[in-house]
Amino acid sequence: MSKHIIVGGGVYGAAVAWHLASRGEAVELIEAGSIASGASGGPGRRGVRANGRDVREIPLMVRAREIWPSLHEVLGTEPLYETTGQIQLFEREIDLAPAEVRAALQNRLGIESRVLSQDEIREFEPGVAPMIRGGLYCPGDGVAFHARTTHAFAEKARLAGAVLREGVEAAGLVATDGKVTALETTEGERIPVTGRLMLFCNAGVKALVAPWVDLPLWSRTFLVAVSAPLADNPVRHLVGHMSRTLSLKREPDGRLMISGGRPGTWDHAARRGTPIRKEVELNVADAVAVYPELEGLLIETADTDHLEAECIDHVPVIDSLPGNEHVLYAAGWTGHGWAIAPAVAELMRDWVLEGAKPDLLAPFAFGRFC
Ligand SMILES: Cc1cc2nc3c(=O)[nH]c(=O)nc-3n(C[C@H](O)[C@H](O)[C@H](O)COP(=O)(O)OP(=O)(O)OC[C@H]3O[C@@H](n4cnc5c(N)ncnc54)[C@H](O)[C@@H]3O)c2cc1C
Repeated sequence: MSKHIIVGGGVYGAAVAWHLASRGEAVELIEAGSIASGASGGPGRRGVRANGRDVREIPLMVRAREIWPSLHEVLGTEPLYETTGQIQLFEREIDLAPAEVRAALQNRLGIESRVLSQDEIREFEPGVAPMIRGGLYCPGDGVAFHARTTHAFAEKARLAGAVLREGVEAAGLVATDGKVTALETTEGERIPVTGRLMLFCNAGVKALVAPWVDLPLWSRTFLVAVSAPLADNPVRHLVGHMSRTLSLKREPDGRLMISGGRPGTWDHAARRGTPIRKEVELNVADAVAVYPELEGLLIETADTDHLEAECIDHVPVIDSLPGNEHVLYAAGWTGHGWAIAPAVAELMRDWVLEGAKPDLLAPFAFGRFC
């Protein structure tokens, strides 16, 4: 029986491993560190947001939203997802017109959306500063526990018979006349590729496929700052901002998670990030500017330990390797690959089992850069 090899134990690798193993396929997954040690791990929760998303990803989000609310029942866990609604705040007059156009577009594509007026925004988020003029609101958006979900997928994959090997790093693809026949690890082990080879190793994909394609991706860290518990957390929804680098999540224990895309530094050898103090201060300053009662907020955790790959046009590249239809890869989620993961994982399963790339993945082909 042929065996599928998956590289990467983040949400994509773990979910696809489960999907395939539960259909009776033989699957081996290798992970350089431990399950959920990359972008799918770390503190807080991840936003499950359709609001403001690239239009190419909206159909994926429509499907993902059908999966998220009952995913924990399938995985046999406590609830992993909470519908909170997401609001993209704006404070500049020039952001009103794009918000209105985006609301109309999102509604047309099946994502209920509307623009909240200056008065309405205060009913939804009473703590916002006077300069906030409104918000683009998506009631169906939410947040999910990312590390728990990824571990749950991995556990289900194991139970279904997949072999998950942690601490095993892919060094390169072994090819004969351009055809990939094996995977070589940094320890010199050669793993034959008899079924599909799937590269879901995010920041590690670019190097592995470099002999075939030059992906327009780069890696970077994203700062996550988590406050001490607040007696009265003023943030009610999942909140973003149209002109500030800011995302706010209210955690179940009263903490506030502040993120949005500020960087940290990255040590490739140690595979660890270091937060940049100034960036933490700027992130907090933006939060306080938008919610003045956060003044004096105490940050307990600043984390940049989870590397993500960004793509030049802000959506992932999902494709097979030229001349190697049995080698699939997906990377370059650009800080918003979490929300769509359950939908994309299903499509990757269908691609493997049915042999044809699903239409919903067509916009993410490498060919768009050629
Ligand atoms: C701080 C932060 C906040 C985010 N917030 C959101 C959000 O709110 N909403 C949203 O939708 N998305 C968000 N994202 C993005 C989302 O988390 C990622 O896009 C998603 O988790 C990527 O999953 P993955 O499985 O592709 O990658 P990863 O989880 O990074 O998994 C890849 C794995 O591959 C392993 N690996 C790498 N190279 C090799 C190799 N050569 N051999 C073997 N293994 C290897 C790594 O160790 C890693 O565990 C955020 C990302 C970060 C970092």
